[in-house]
Amino acid sequence: MSLKVLFVASEAHPLVKTGGLADVAGALPRALARLGADVRLLLPAYRGVTARVPDLREVGPLELAAAPPARLLRGRMPRSRARVYLLDIPELYDRPGGPYTGPDGGDWPDNAWRFAALGRAAAALALGKADPRWRPDLVHAHDWQAGLAPALLSLERERPATVFTVHNLAYQGVFPWETFRDLALPWELWSMERLEYYGQFAFIKGGLACADWLTTVSPTYAREIQTPEHGFGLDGLLRHRAERLVGILNGIDHEEWSPGRDPHLAARFTRRTLGRRARNKAAVQARFGLPAHAGAPLLGHIGRLVEQKGADLILGALDGLLAHGAQLVVLGSGAPHLEQAVREAAARYPGRVGVHVGYDEPLAHLIEGGVDMFLMPSRFEPCGLNQMYSLRYGAVPVVRRTGGLADTVVDADEAALATGRATGFVFEAPEPAALLEACRRAIACYRDRPADWRRIVLAGMAQDFSWRASARRYLELYRRALDGRSRAAPGGV
Ligand code: ADP
Repeated sequence: MSLKVLFVASEAHPLVKTGGLADVAGALPRALARLGADVRLLLPAYRGVTARVPDLREVGPLELAAAPPARLLRGRMPRSRARVYLLDIPELYDRPGGPYTGPDGGDWPDNAWRFAALGRAAAALALGKADPRWRPDLVHAHDWQAGLAPALLSLERERPATVFTVHNLAYQGVFPWETFRDLALPWELWSMERLEYYGQFAFIKGGLACADWLTTVSPTYAREIQTPEHGFGLDGLLRHRAERLVGILNGIDHEEWSPGRDPHLAARFTRRTLGRRARNKAAVQARFGLPAHAGAPLLGHIGRLVEQKGADLILGALDGLLAHGAQLVVLGSGAPHLEQAVREAAARYPGRVGVHVGYDEPLAHLIEGGVDMFLMPSRFEPCGLNQMYSLRYGAVPVVRRTGGLADTVVDADEAALATGRATGFVFEAPEPAALLEACRRAIACYRDRPADWRRIVLAGMAQDFSWRASARRYLELYRRALDGRSRAAPGGV
């Protein structure tokens, strides 16, 4: 019998995506399925999602406390055999806007209700009360939106094992006591050892305190979140659970992200046809209204425009970068003040800085395939996908030494260059000057030592960040979680 795993997540590519979580929830089930596991995903039926799920049929009605009437639907992920359950509650999910925010960019005021329903539906499925034909051995919940699933299950005697993955500890789902009461959550969950959090309650604690095992998305981030600097108030709990906390690096989806067969590129290329890359560079320059200088170092940045990602550090280093003759392109959306700031930079430096504010997946591919260097000066970065795409696409990453960036990019110092291990440029301080210095090193290498540059590009392109390796590690963890079931006290450690 294959291992049955229920994934619980609030987004999954290609159905709905705001960030890296969607990439993981879309790709990891497929990779696990290839290793023989029976993985099914539970996702809210946001507007537009139902229509994109093939072979959809109703499993049955669901009665969830503190939620309007619900239905459970079952279908397949597009272009895949993987099963997906949709939690259909039109009053909560069928509306315009994003999965977490309304059209005005603010959080939906009923997010606690929307994701409490997700947790409750997950618990029902996990206990065999929602789909009589399928009952998982293990529930794998992701981020705060799914945090109530392990919490509710921790109150059950006969339950599957639970694993909770933190994709970003900064998002915790904190709500007041009145919301806890109105959600009619079991009183046992209102305690410091479970959901209570400084007089309020946090969905993420449902995962962190109650799941049998915890994971996060890189070994370095797993260590960092146990420190006050990166722990966002939860470092004490995470230190307490350190023996049950594992860092597993995300993979990247090679079907979507392979420069040799990427339909979004102006010219496809491999390590053997690297020369073709120049056509993508020219295409990026054209898209952003920059002159087609083949020799000008072209720098790129893609990501959510939020403090975490350090777009302000790039802007702070901008004068210095341009003084080195660099061109810069930025693709992103997010905080209004940062959107405004990047637009202003483009207006101030026409022909040298190009900006596209918005979300544009095909353009993201073209940028990865065309820029010479990819900037990722994140203040913290649980795993980060863009630096891995960059490595694979020959865009040399310039990154801060934090989280998954520290685990995936090898700085081009002399020793690493000599041994052929160098894949990028790494800096420490979250300051414009430190970013600028790393870029200066990168630009000097690009201009003056083309053979070294080529070696760095090729070493990056040779890295294997496929999901297969990550999926193996998750499977190992699932087996440990199941082996430990008989010894684990209800409610975790
Ligand atoms: P996070 O999950 O913190 O946003 P990651 O680097 O882990 O950061 O993943 C971000 C994902 O979202 C990547 O697939 C990236 O290419 C994509 N992305 C982010 N912003 C944009 C954008 N404006 N346009 C296209 N893709 C974007």
